[in-house]
Amino acid sequence: MTDPMAPRELLAWYLDAGVDEAIGEQPVDRYAAKTIVESAKDGAERAPPTPATPMAEPPPSAAQNPSGPVQTAYDLAAAASSVDALGRALETFDDCPLKKTATNLVFCAGSESARLILIGEAPGAEEDRQVSPFVGPSGKLLERMLASVGLDQTQVLISNTVFWRPPGNRTPTMVEIATCQPFVERLIELVDPEFLVALGGAAAKSLLARNESVGKLRGKWFPYSTPRLPRPVQATATYHPAYLLRSPAQKRAVWRDLLAIKKKLADDEPQM
Ligand code: URA
Repeated sequence: MTDPMAPRELLAWYLDAGVDEAIGEQPVDRYAAKTIVESAKDGAERAPPTPATPMAEPPPSAAQNPSGPVQTAYDLAAAASSVDALGRALETFDDCPLKKTATNLVFCAGSESARLILIGEAPGAEEDRQVSPFVGPSGKLLERMLASVGLDQTQVLISNTVFWRPPGNRTPTMVEIATCQPFVERLIELVDPEFLVALGGAAAKSLLARNESVGKLRGKWFPYSTPRLPRPVQATATYHPAYLLRSPAQKRAVWRDLLAIKKKLADDEPQM
């Protein structure tokens, strides 16, 4: 018989295999959990990503799967008539799989009357701890970059494509993004900004409904519409600050993007 591994060796073996989070006391039978994941996936695959064109009806996912998690998310989000109410609705929403592993819900930060909304990918460890988006290393860089063009948190609203930290900071899955998407969409409707910036590939893909790389989308503007927005929001994408921490040479590109955004804000400034 082989010797059982000593606890320290076993932990080292888990770490080598990429297991760096303890997410529960008991093992979970993922086959039994299949039903809910399948029904969310069903919705995610049929739903177009949050549309960049007007949507006359709810996404097919919700319409075709009226009792699924995506429909639940749409119903809860649609009933919220303020950003605060939307945050409270999210607290009651249990169908995003990430909620089971994250410690806290991380919703949004900044001004609810901002003319510019920034959507990142997902909260990280520091965001989960501090219950606020973009407060870790990439958030600090974002803050400095916004400041370099004269913008601060009183002029923007910041949120993410998902509202709970993915274990080990992995990229959120399609199912996780699809179940949070109705809340992101409603947040944009409630803030009703003039401009929207997707930070990084995950946000660009789900918000702009485009498959090109961020490098190709940068500098281009797309109309982002929903049935409840009074007019389309002008949307674009730029590199995620976490990518800039790994590739500092691209900071210059994002700085140029932010200058262009600042100019658009100034050009479209409402006249008093
Ligand atoms: N990265 C993100 O995309 N969002 C955060 O809130 C923090 C880091």
